[in-house]
This record gives sequence, structure tokens and C-alpha cells, in this order.
Amino acid sequence: MEALKNTGAIVVSKADGEEAYTSALKRNSALSVLEAEYVIYPTEIRHIPAIIAYATSQSPPIEIAVKCGGAHSSTWASSNGGIVIDLARLDAVRVSEDKATVVVQGGTTWGKVYIECQKANVDVVGGPFWFVGVGGYLTGGGYSPFTPERGLAIDNILSAVVVLADGRTVRTSATEEPDLFWAIRGGGNQFGIVVEFTLKAFPPGGPFTVGIIAYPGTEIEKVLKVVQDWKATYTTREKMNITFARPAPHFKPAVTILPWVSQDASGRSAEVLAPFRALKPILDTCAPVPDMLAVSHSLDGLFAVAPPHLTIRGALISDLWTDLMLGLFYNWVAFTEENPDAKSTTVLWELSGADKIAAVGSTETAFHAREPHFWVAIQGRSSAEESVPIMRKFVAESTEYMRRENRKKTGKDAGYFINFAQGEEPIEEVFGPNLPRLRKLKAKYDPKKVWSKGCLIEPDFD
Ligand SMILES: Cc1cc2nc3c(=O)[nH]c(=O)nc-3n(C[C@H](O)[C@H](O)[C@H](O)COP(=O)(O)OP(=O)(O)OC[C@H]3O[C@@H](n4cnc5c(N)ncnc54)[C@H](O)[C@@H]3O)c2cc1C
Repeated sequence: MEALKNTGAIVVSKADGEEAYTSALKRNSALSVLEAEYVIYPTEIRHIPAIIAYATSQSPPIEIAVKCGGAHSSTWASSNGGIVIDLARLDAVRVSEDKATVVVQGGTTWGKVYIECQKANVDVVGGPFWFVGVGGYLTGGGYSPFTPERGLAIDNILSAVVVLADGRTVRTSATEEPDLFWAIRGGGNQFGIVVEFTLKAFPPGGPFTVGIIAYPGTEIEKVLKVVQDWKATYTTREKMNITFARPAPHFKPAVTILPWVSQDASGRSAEVLAPFRALKPILDTCAPVPDMLAVSHSLDGLFAVAPPHLTIRGALISDLWTDLMLGLFYNWVAFTEENPDAKSTTVLWELSGADKIAAVGSTETAFHAREPHFWVAIQGRSSAEESVPIMRKFVAESTEYMRRENRKKTGKDAGYFINFAQGEEPIEEVFGPNLPRLRKLKAKYDPKKVWSKGCLIEPDFD
């Protein structure tokens, strides 16, 4: 304990009292909470090497977990009896004077980034919600509302600063330590603690039209027909989520559309939403908001009442086939009917243009899924812990269902996605053709497997 305090970081343990300790363990999902021995908040980057040195010098070495926003629904950013390095105090955000870049520390959240972006009147390719951390989101790839226009978030990182397992702090970019730069763009948490990212900035994309349009589940076929029409005409400045949800107060199955339309001073959203509105939704809250900060808060009301146990799994799919969507819809209706405590479980389909993702080769970054695709997230939610096993089963089976159907329809597997994985996925399928290079780089940057949580990459020493 003294050794950890001597690092200069703030150390929280059970000895600090129930409130401080519980609050330090808190995560977006109650299922992500584990009882760490110590939660350590570095307030300066130089504190981190000393924490790593302490943990790795113990016999046996103490497990280290790294937390940024704590939004991932796994337990990767938590530790049972080990140390959590919580980066929350390393949360500075700085927009460069020429407004070409935004430098964000590795412990900040998109909400804090958007506050600075709002002041400087710029945007970056970032996450959709304020509470999601930059660290997990970016090292996992990062699908953003801006992806159709500007690619994945990792395609917009110019450089980074990483604390390595041996305690060295290195700057990495296309020209400095390029192997590491390649690995952290989609390789997850396996190569070091990214304490700083330099992101490309661009002129603001607002105003944006966002909100919820909802229909009774009985209308699903009509809604999906309009979705397919929209898919044939969409531009790079718009995207939509389609969700299957049971909203209060009746908790009946519903299909909802969550649009995001950028540069909406042009009135494009009226055109995009007209066919959806013609279907006479039961709810339509769509309205313009000025910037990404407002977008990132647009679903706060829903999150505030969401049950605490959340487990998410995602799958990448090659196309949005109506029969696949309908198949999952009916499975989801049956599951939520039979398991009332898990009725807040939702299915979310992200519909957005993928040309920019595909403009980068599958071996150019550690993130390999570069053929055009869409992503789907199954979000199991329940109030009671007893529902968790059945919910996890539904989430895993639904993911497999989509992957199986994808293989049947295309002969290919579109892959998994770290940001919505649970760590149990076959590693070959998470990293595809990039796994051999990642294993070599694991041997180079983390031979002793200090980073032992997440989608684990075994070092290849040959
Ligand atoms: C409501 C919701 C919506 C989401 N929407 C999207 C979306 O639209 N697009 C998308 O791409 N993802 C999305 N995600 C997934 C999200 O990007 C991941 O859960 C991501 O890991 C969260 O980042 P975090 O920093 O909050 O995670 P944490 O839980 O803090 O950490 C997750 C993992 O990242 C590692 N990590 C965190 N910070 C660092 C760092 N600085 N250096 C190295 N490793 C680090 C942790 O060790 C851990 O393994 C969403 C998640 C939620 C809950």
C-alpha cells in the first residue's frame, strides 16, 4: 500500500470506507463490477510506470486492469483482487490553435472531448454517448456517426503516447514506433496503456437531427421496407439505428428508428424522415440539436431508467437482410415475453455507409474488418441478477445466429468487434488475418502478458 501511495497516484481501497470504495468500482454495467484490492488514479503519466513496476515485481505478479470510461460491458476494466489503474484523472483535452487536431488524454470520455470541441467549433470522429471512454472506444476501432464520411475513429488518429509493460513511455505514429501504432488501432488493450491520442479535427458537422421514431412491433415489415429504401439512397452525412425495444409504460414490442443527420441546415432530415413519418409512428421526438455534445446526451432519459445489469455482444454482418432482421425480431419478442425481468433487452442495428471503412486495407491497421459491413449489438438488460445467465445465453445465441446466417448467405464470416465482445470469442475470428502479426508484436511489447484482460493475444516468440 505504501509503495503504491509513493507512486504519487491516488489510491483507494476498502480501508477508505464503503462509499469511496464502491464508487471507485462503479461501472456502466453492474455486471462489470469486480472487487479490486486497489483502485489507483494516476494524476500524472509518470505515476503509471511505478504502478506497473510494483504490480509486476510481486510474487505472483498482481493483476492489472486499466479503466477509462468504464463503459465496456465486460469485466476487462475491473479486477478481482488486483489493481485497477483508473485513468479518469488523466482527462485533459486540448484543441490545437490551428484547429487541425485535438489531443485527448487516455482517461477522458467523449462528453469531455465534445465540451472542448464545442468551444473551439470543431468535430472529431468519436463516440455517440458522453459517458463512453476514449481509451476503450479507440483501441477497439471506434464506429462513429462520422464513420460514413470519415472512416473509423482509428483511421483518424494521427499519433499516440503509450506506457508499455516495461514502463517505457513512447510516442507512436506512422513514422515513430510504427508497429505499435499499427497494433493499438484495433488490437484492444493488449499492447500498453494509451495515455494520449492526437485526433484529426474538422469543421463542425452540426446541426444534427436526432431523436426517436417508434412504431408498434406489428408494423415491422412496413418499417423495414422503408429502411431498405433509405439504404439505397443514403448519403455519408446520415445514419440510423433501428432498435427492437419494449418501451414503458406498456412494454409492448416496438421498432424504433434513431436517426442522426449531419449538416441539417439543408433540411435533409425532412426528406430522409418523410417516408418514416408517413407510416404514422406512435412517437416522434426528432429535432435538431447544435453539436455532438448535445447528440451525446440525447438518450440520457432512456439510460437513466435502464436496469443495471447490462451485457452486450455484437456481430458484424455483410448486409442488412430483411429476413435476418425479422428472424431476430421474432426471437427477441419471444425471449422478452418469456423473461419479463429481461424485457429491457434490445437489439440495435447500425445502418451507415461503410465505403470509408473499406477504403483502408484489412492489414493496414490491427482492425481487420474492412469489407463493407454493418454492425449489430444485442444488449441484454435486467434488473435482477438471477436473469443474467438466461440473458447472456440469449445475447450469445443471437450473435451466433447472425454470424451463421451471414456465412450461409455470403460464404464469409464478417467478424467480431472488440468493443462489443466478451473475451470468449475465438481469437482468430476477432483479429482475422492480422493475428499472426499481432502475436509477434505481443512478444515484442508485452512478452510477460502484463495486459492479461480482454481479447487475449498469445505472444509468438519464434
Ligand atoms: C451505450 C453504449 C453505446 C456504444 N456505442 C458504440 C458505438 O457507437 N461505436 C463503438 O465503436 N463502440 C460503442 N460502444 C462500445 C464502446 O466503444 C466500448 O465499450 C469501449 O470499450 C468503451 O470504452 P471505455 O473507455 O469506456 O471502456 P472501459 O470499460 O474503461 O475499458 C474497456 C477496455 O478498454 C481498455 N482501455 C480503456 N482505456 C484504455 C487506454 N487508455 N489504453 C489501453 N486500453 C484501454 C480497458 O482496459 C478495457 O479492456 C458503446 C458502448 C455502450 C455501453
